[in-house]
Parts: sequence; C-alpha cells; structure tokens
Amino acid sequence: MKRPRLLILGGTSEASELARRLADDNRFDPCLSLAGRTKAPATPPIAFRVGGFGGPEGLADYLRAEAIDLIVDATHPFAERMKHNAVAAAAQADVPLLAIRRPEWQPQPGDQWTVVPDMQAAVSALGENTLRVFVTIGQKELAPFRAAPQHSYVIRSVDPPAPDSLPPDTQVITARGPFDEAAERDLLERLAIDVIVTKNSGGDATHAKLAAARGLGLPVILVARPAHPAAEAVETAREAVAWLEAWLARRG
Ligand code: NAP
Repeated sequence: MKRPRLLILGGTSEASELARRLADDNRFDPCLSLAGRTKAPATPPIAFRVGGFGGPEGLADYLRAEAIDLIVDATHPFAERMKHNAVAAAAQADVPLLAIRRPEWQPQPGDQWTVVPDMQAAVSALGENTLRVFVTIGQKELAPFRAAPQHSYVIRSVDPPAPDSLPPDTQVITARGPFDEAAERDLLERLAIDVIVTKNSGGDATHAKLAAARGLGLPVILVARPAHPAAEAVETAREAVAWLEAWLARRG
C-alpha cells in the first residue's frame, strides 16, 4: 500500500524532532512546511517547502493537490493564525489532523510573574519608571514597546528585528536557543536587567531565562498564550510518532 503522505507544519523544535524521527522511517512520506521567517533555518532531514499557502483555502487546495493523507500541526503556541488555518483546511479537505501542543510553563515557588493577555498589556505592566528590560518575544511584535521609550531595552531574537520596529534605547542580541541557566544568569547580571518580558512558549529550549530570573529574584512579565482551536493533540514529537503508528495500524 502507498506510504501515507504527511504534512508537518513546523517552525518549532517539536517539528524538527518529528522530522528527525521520521527521516529514516520508510512507513511515511513526510514533508515539513516552514513559514520562511528565519533567514537561515537548519536544513531539514526530510522533504520540505517554504512559505505561506494563502490562508485556509490555499492550504486546503494544497492538501488536495498533493494528496496529503495526514497533517501534523507542530507550529509554535503563539502561531495563532496558522493553527486556525490548519484546523479549517483539514476539515475542508477531510484530512485527519494531529496537533502537537507543548505544555505551558507553570510558576514555581520564588517566581515573580505578572501574567498579561497581550503585548500591549506587557508594555503597560512595565510602568512609568525607567527600567532595563530584557525582551525575548521574537521580532514581529516589538512595535508596542515604542510607546514606552523611557525604558532601556535589550532585545534578543533569532534574526535582527527591523530597525523601525524598535524603541529608541535598544540593544539587539541575535541568538538561537537552546539556552542554559548559568549562561542566562550571567547575561542578566552582566546586562543589569531589572525585568524580563517574554511569552509563555513552554518547552525546554528557552525556559532557562525563567529559572535564572527566579534565582536572581527578577520579575517576569509573561504574555499568556492565545486560545487554540479544538483538535486532537499530543504534547511531544515522540507521542506524535505513536499516534501516527496507531493511525497506520487502523488503516491496515
Ligand atoms: P501565524 O501568525 O500563525 O501565521 C501567519 C501566516 O504565516 C499564516 O497565515 C501562514 O500563511 C504562514 N505560516 C505560518 N506557519 C507556517 C508554516 N509552518 N508553513 C507555511 N506557512 C506558515 O504564525 P507566526 O506567529 O507568524 O509564526 C510563523 C512561523 O514561525 C510558524 O511556523 C511558527 O511555528 C514559527 N514560530 C513562531 C513563533 C511565535 O512566537 N509566533 C515562535 C517560534 C516559531 P498563509 O495564510 O499564507 O498560509
């Protein structure tokens, strides 16, 4: 029987791990889809494509044209639009969908988190007094910080943000995780950071800054996740492989 064609919506460590796990697995015919935001992504070990599909209709057309049998939504917890597009397109094209939804970070004793609903609220939560702010939210939602030019910012992202999106007093650090706690602690101390602004992305790769903040007694302003559309979901790439195997066994 023909190997099932599998579309993995990526841009996360889970998608990369799933690609690695399926690379030598000749039961499936996988293709990893990347949005194309990162300038120099690591070359995937499986077939891949880059760029948007053109909304849910475009994705549904793609699923039909490419005869995709299964879709795995392994997009980032804050990739809100793509998650909705994936669920809508899977329904339109009648393709089973599995989502990989990594758990949220949970506060631990000693954490000083202020949880806010969005980036605008994160900026308001900084307050009026001048602070040294470490911002790790990616590069596309920085504009709201321009409304709080009294602060001094250190912004860390994988690629450099557009200069016109930045508040006036900003230092940019480009770096790609995973990060470790000792290095994060050194960085926060060296940069004399007063507060961190980040998103509740979950996962291990970028958690170290929160552990470092806890150790240093630093406050964190944490943007909560957007709501996700209902979908059958697992938490890890390993569980996704088990789900795929079960699907294959049912198909016979
Ligand atoms: P988004 O707002 O949900 O998606 C915006 C548009 O980008 C989508 O409508 C889609 O265009 C295209 N797109 C998104 N993911 C795609 C994929 N895997 N393959 C092909 N097209 C994709 O997403 P975003 O927040 O801009 O994130 C873009 C990518 O970066 C995602 O793949 C995500 O997993 C990754 N990422 C995001 C964050 C974050 O904080 N948002 C962090 C780390 C990684 P069309 O409508 O034209 O199909």
